[in-house]
Amino acid sequence: MDVVHSAADMRARVCAWRRAGARIGFVPTMGNLHAGHLSLVELARKRADTVVASVFVNPAQFGPNEDFASYPRTLDADRAGLAAHGCDALFAPGVDEMYPFGVAEGVRVDVPKISEVLEGELRPGHFAGVATVVTKLFNLVQPDVAVFGQKDYQQLLVVRRMTMDLRLPIDIIAAPTRRESNGLAMSSRNQYLSSEERERAGVIYRALCAMREQWNAGRPIAAIESDARAVLEAAGSIPDYATIRRADDLSAPYPSDRCGAIALIAIRMGRARLIDNLLLDP
Ligand code: AMP
Repeated sequence: MDVVHSAADMRARVCAWRRAGARIGFVPTMGNLHAGHLSLVELARKRADTVVASVFVNPAQFGPNEDFASYPRTLDADRAGLAAHGCDALFAPGVDEMYPFGVAEGVRVDVPKISEVLEGELRPGHFAGVATVVTKLFNLVQPDVAVFGQKDYQQLLVVRRMTMDLRLPIDIIAAPTRRESNGLAMSSRNQYLSSEERERAGVIYRALCAMREQWNAGRPIAAIESDARAVLEAAGSIPDYATIRRADDLSAPYPSDRCGAIALIAIRMGRARLIDNLLLDP
């Protein structure tokens, strides 16, 4: 597997692949790879001839009080994992390579509305940081297909919308969420949890499943949401939200809506902030 650090080198390789008629698949990540990330690479492998993964801890998507400095960086292990899962090239640029004019003075890509609710409301500027870096990465890698995890559902909607609006000829594919045996969605940030907290954090998935069950039984949304918050609090977490939204734009469902909904949860537990979701259609 090739490891590429510069934008110029990435472009040169992409040029050669394109000349050879290869279909390019792309998996952007922030590294510290786990089985969830690697399942995205496997999915890309099925849809493309050449697979590129990126590892870039993107400063623009972290708030001033967030974990940019302490975010786990494990490039050697990431390289080995990607090579073992059939990745053809790892793109691991430095910050200067991605933000030649600096983060504050660089061009920003903003995706209105969908970026403003839930995670966007709690993490101002987060999705502009995501949309900006994904646009730059798409521009460098020129993929035919890019794979994103459903775990970061709002991010997936932001990227889809951005891709459509900028008329980028890229298929955005959603990959299912990989979970630990207690239902906890795999995440680099699970490392911030003690083993006892990791066990307790299984409450997120249990709460999501209970929300789905109650939704399918026709219970009113407000009652479902307040039950979920109570369950999360009883397990010693602080819920930022536990909510049911329309899956297409994350707006509040009409009381008569019975399909196309999603339950989303964000909690704080110990040093970690964790998010997860579950589509509610039977
Ligand atoms: P990150 O490194 O956290 O930015 O994630 C990179 C990609 O992996 C994103 O598209 C995530 O949605 C996806 N991802 C993260 N965790 C999981 C998981 N548990 N299962 C599947 N995909 C995931």
